[in-house]
Amino acid sequence: MTDSSNDTGIAINFHEVKKTFRERGKETEVLKGVTGTVPSGTVLTLVGPSGSGKSTLLSMCNLLLSPDEGEVYVNGKEIRDWSIPDLRKTVGMAFQTPTLFPGTVLDNLSLGPKLRGEQLDNPGYWLREIDLPEDLQDRSVEELSGGQRQRIALVRTLINEPSILLLDEVTSSLDPVSTQVVETLITDWRKKTGATVLWVTHHLEQARRLGDITWYLEAGELLEARSTEDFFARPENERARMFVNDPE
Ligand code: ADP
Ligand code: MG
Repeated sequence: MTDSSNDTGIAINFHEVKKTFRERGKETEVLKGVTGTVPSGTVLTLVGPSGSGKSTLLSMCNLLLSPDEGEVYVNGKEIRDWSIPDLRKTVGMAFQTPTLFPGTVLDNLSLGPKLRGEQLDNPGYWLREIDLPEDLQDRSVEELSGGQRQRIALVRTLINEPSILLLDEVTSSLDPVSTQVVETLITDWRKKTGATVLWVTHHLEQARRLGDITWYLEAGELLEARSTEDFFARPENERARMFVNDPE
């Protein structure tokens, strides 16, 4: 695992993180001072209404976006002190829409190792992990279904052995079978590696099933952060309670 040297026991620490977007003269404060810690090796599920700032918060953890104010510490080091290549190796990210480049499945899976001057050892192993036949590796990614593409995109991220994985609604466009494959892939991989996962989902059953800790974000504020079990038994925050009882 790359650069996981972290004796703080904290994978991510947000401190008073603020972000405002300015668009066509209009200002929106999307994060209003978020403070919270994510212990190493946990699965944190992040829920809340759409537009509450979940994706924005996640994107702060690998500098796709940077905070206007406040700090984000990754493995104890402030995000702006990281070099981008080191950060990209340590923090993996996947999105609702899989981002693959034109080429074969093998081309896509080999990209990370190639950039490090290495060869991908065992593509067959990874394809089996996501219930896809080995001969799929020579097919163009354009011929794949959406579910297959997402599985490939996730495996490509895992091959880089991130110690922190950010997942932004990665199963939201998937059928139930692909969703199950993805959940199992991530869960098994996490058990093996001890990695930390921040998983944004609007699917509350999924958040409940997979999380160790759950955060409830609404309108740029972290209103509740508790063990997943306690959170879903009964949120303390009234807004969170309303959301759990009647999500959008
Ligand atoms: P969520 O993931 O919880 O749905 P987001 O973090 O995507 O929320 O967005 C929060 C708010 O920020 C929304 O109102 C959205 O329209 C706005 N927003 C997100 N990205 C940008 C951007 N690049 N420019 C302007 N506004 C943005
Ligand atoms: Mg989002």
